Amino acid sequence: MIRDQLTSADRCIYALLTMIVISGESSSMRRVLIAGLTATLAVAISGCTWSPSADNGDGVGIVAAFYPLQFIAERVGGDKARVTNLAPPGAEPHDLELSPAQVASIAEADLVLYVRGFQPAVDEAVAQGSRTALDVTTLVPLLDPPAPIGPPDAEHEEAKADKDPHLWLDPTRLATIVTKLGDKLAELDPDNAASYRARASELGTELAQLDHEFADGLKVCQRHEIVVSHAAFGYLADRYRLRQIPITGLSPEVEPTPQHLAAAADEAKRVGATTVFFETLVSPRVAEVVATAIGAQTAVLDPIEGLEPGRSGDYVSVMRENLAILRPALGCT
Ligand SMILES: [Zn+2]
Repeated sequence: MIRDQLTSADRCIYALLTMIVISGESSSMRRVLIAGLTATLAVAISGCTWSPSADNGDGVGIVAAFYPLQFIAERVGGDKARVTNLAPPGAEPHDLELSPAQVASIAEADLVLYVRGFQPAVDEAVAQGSRTALDVTTLVPLLDPPAPIGPPDAEHEEAKADKDPHLWLDPTRLATIVTKLGDKLAELDPDNAASYRARASELGTELAQLDHEFADGLKVCQRHEIVVSHAAFGYLADRYRLRQIPITGLSPEVEPTPQHLAAAADEAKRVGATTVFFETLVSPRVAEVVATAIGAQTAVLDPIEGLEPGRSGDYVSVMRENLAILRPALGCT
C-alpha cells in the first residue's frame, strides 16, 4: 500500500489534506466521504504523534495488549523495539476499552501481541485490520476453564465454551511463547535477527530457572488447594499440581452469587485452607467474605494481569513473590 511507504511527516500532511478536502465538499458528499475515510484518517493522524513502522529506521513497533506481553516484548525486543501497552498501569485489563487512537495503533503496528479470548475489544480491533498480529494462544496448548464451585449458572455455562486465557502464569508456556516471539521479530526485522534470538534465549533461561524454583518450592506441602478471588490460576495449578478453588469465574468482573460464595467457603473449609488469596487490581471484598466465613487470613496472590502504578519489579520478581506467599500458606517445607 502507498500508505506504508509514507514517512511519519508525510502521514501528517496526508491527514491534514484529507480533512481540507472533506470540509470543502457538499454536506451529503461529506457524509459519504467521512464514513469511508474515518479509518484511514485515524491511522494517518496516528502517524503525527507516533509511528511504529519498521521502515523508519528505529526498530520494530510492537503493541502489547497487556502487561505480561509488554514484559516479553520489551525483553526480547530490547533496544530494537518500541513497545506500547494497551492496558494502562493499575487497570484491570479483562474489560479493556480502546480509544480510537489505540485502535489506529493496532492497525499500524508492525506487530500486535495479544491473547485471543482475554480482551474482546482487542480481538475486535485486530479483526478489523492489522499488519501482523500474533495471538499467543496459538503457540501453546490451552486448558479448559475450571469447573465452577457450586451450582452452574448462565455465566459459567457461557464461559465453558472458551479456553482459559491466563496462560502466562505457567513459566514454561511463557518460555515457549518467548522463543516464538524471537523468531517472529527475526522474521520482521532480519537485520537484527541474531539480537532477538539471543534475547529470547536469555529470557527463556530465566523462565526455566523460575519454573525450577516453583517446582522445588511447592514439591512437599501440607495442602495443594489455593482459594482465589477469580479463576486466573489454572495454568499455575496445572504446572505445579495445585488445585484452584475460584470464588468467581474466569473474569473478575462477574459478581459471585450468594450460592457461589457459600459453596466456595464450604470447599475452602473442607480442604482446611488457612489463606484466601485476593489480587492487587480487583476489590478484595469477595476474598474477605470467604476468609471471614471460614476463619482464614487473606493474602495477595498476583495473577500479573497488570502492574500497579509505581510498582517496582517485573513478571519474574512478582512470580517469585507469589511463590514466597504460597509456600507458608500451603504449609510447604
Ligand atoms: Zn483474569
